Amino acid sequence: METLFRVIGKDKKENTETFQTASQILREGGLVAFPTETVYGLGGNALDKQASLKIYAAKGRPSDNPLIIHIADIKELNELCVDIPRTAYLLAEKFWPGPLTLVMKKHKKVPYTTTGGLDTVAVRMPNHPTALRLIKKSGILIAAPSANLSGRPSPTSAAHVLQDLNGRIDMIIGDGEGDIGIESTIVDLTCKIPMILRPGYITKEMLSEVLGQVLIDPAVEQGKQCVEKPRAPGMKYRHYAPKGEMVLVEGADERAVVNKINSLVRDKRLQGVKTGILATERTKGSYRADYVISVGNREDEHVISSRLFDVLRSFDDLGVAYIVSESFPRRNVGYAIMNRLSKAAGGRIININEKKENDDDSNRM
Ligand code: AMP
Ligand code: MG
Repeated sequence: METLFRVIGKDKKENTETFQTASQILREGGLVAFPTETVYGLGGNALDKQASLKIYAAKGRPSDNPLIIHIADIKELNELCVDIPRTAYLLAEKFWPGPLTLVMKKHKKVPYTTTGGLDTVAVRMPNHPTALRLIKKSGILIAAPSANLSGRPSPTSAAHVLQDLNGRIDMIIGDGEGDIGIESTIVDLTCKIPMILRPGYITKEMLSEVLGQVLIDPAVEQGKQCVEKPRAPGMKYRHYAPKGEMVLVEGADERAVVNKINSLVRDKRLQGVKTGILATERTKGSYRADYVISVGNREDEHVISSRLFDVLRSFDDLGVAYIVSESFPRRNVGYAIMNRLSKAAGGRIININEKKENDDDSNRM
């Protein structure tokens, strides 16, 4: 299949044509990748069984991993959900359009292929002019998981989408890089107390201001890789992962972390393995590896989240087979950053504080 690639630019007429073509493809059951403020999405008609099957096939995604449906108008909730709780409207008012996905009971119109066999459906309104214009113009509800091959880091640029899906989908619309860079926060509103199924830019604290009590799914808290029946089925799969083996190093003392990372990398280099380090601005000069990439200033969690997946993909492009990453404080967006990093690392986290405790090292910080 040849994939049409169009970029949104200054020429209004060209843009209009791009939206017309993309809308027609979507209405005819085809697939179009488009930008959102989080990551690029791979869109297909959410109410068309065949289109959702095509999405799974193009991504190589397991069919029990449900899709998020993207809307451009709050009224469309009624077509997708039943028993919509009041909290949904409160959250929508505060955070939509924006990086928040709500899980509610599904309307019978929504095919089980779209929801991965679940009786619930995940919905969000993206905060991106191109995404919103495409949804409105097409006149359909668009199921759109991240536009990457299943398991790979999510795409934050059109180049990433081309890398993964060129030749597998009908069209890609390029329009810069999303400023958030990690996927939406997902909240399940079908539980008695709303539950975060996937952390993101909208934090637990921000949600609590609207909802009062909010819980975090225990499987997210524990960073478990394999849960039998996870509420957010995506959690069961290795995710966001670069091709190389990856490990995180966590610890209170920055110098000790740097030393540990250098020693892990040194061992691998001696074995002839190509190595990479995901560093931050302050520490990047202290490392010795084949490639050291800074993800930004440690204090600037928004820059880190927006660059994270691009950095992970860069290691792949460079042919790095062993990656060691610094860790980040698990607060605010840092919580979501650590969630993505620990999944990318397949749960391999070395905590040097804990190790020191076990070793009964009296010098620990
Ligand atoms: P993505 O992988 O970015 O396309 O996001 C899709 C993710 O949304 C899935 O992996 C699930 O974790 C989550 N999701 C979608 N629909 C539901 C649902 N009905 N219930 C719980 N989680 C859902
Ligand atoms: Mg995804």
